[in-house]
Amino acid sequence: MATMRYAILADIHANATALSAVLEDVDYRGGVDELWCLGDIVGFGPDPHDCIEILRKFNCVCVSGNHDFSALEQNKLSSYDSDSAMVLSWTASQLTAEDTQFLSQAKIKTEKDNFTLVHGSPRQPLWEYVLSISIARENFPYFTTPYCIVGHTHVPIAYKKEGSTISSVLLSENIGLILGDVPMILNPGSVGQPRDGDSRASYAIYDSAVGVFRLHRVPYDLVSVRERIWGKGLPVRLASRLERGE
Ligand code: ZN
Repeated sequence: MATMRYAILADIHANATALSAVLEDVDYRGGVDELWCLGDIVGFGPDPHDCIEILRKFNCVCVSGNHDFSALEQNKLSSYDSDSAMVLSWTASQLTAEDTQFLSQAKIKTEKDNFTLVHGSPRQPLWEYVLSISIARENFPYFTTPYCIVGHTHVPIAYKKEGSTISSVLLSENIGLILGDVPMILNPGSVGQPRDGDSRASYAIYDSAVGVFRLHRVPYDLVSVRERIWGKGLPVRLASRLERGE
């Protein structure tokens, strides 16, 4: 297989400013052959249509997230808090027929290179959060590729399985993680709504030539996103949350 570089973007959450900043950063770092989008393109944020429009221009492999699913189906809205559910109904009203088509083409689980790609977990691709070593442990049997990439928690982390021992390491920006012989579950954090206390957009680049998965953090104009959240009548709490990185 030719060596490839991939940019891995999860949980964009209708934040076009963060998405554009990340794509500029990808360019600045020499570009990639393909984008992998780990779901939740929409939900929470003010720019569902713009984000899909931007992604459409790229060579992009997308899996579906719970917000993408719920925006399309207007289904399971009762499993969200009231702000999220309100934004999901609003999101549906913002999507064109092409946007809906784009979102509904995404699979819930796919394999690329050495990776299984899902939004939540390999066991429950739309809904399960891999939030702990014990949940990670239960999920290792559910993929057959060497590694699995997930999103959904909005926290950049890697879980590693050595024999029966599972360990985790929080990912730091610019530090490359060398993917070796042991199975791993990797999370690149969130582009549009980080929840690790750092408001900067989070994403990763994987370089198959050297087998390195590297996290990057990108500052972006939070004020313009806050103004669009206000301007479109979306819950103000969603703007303050972005500023706190939670
Ligand atoms: Zn999400």
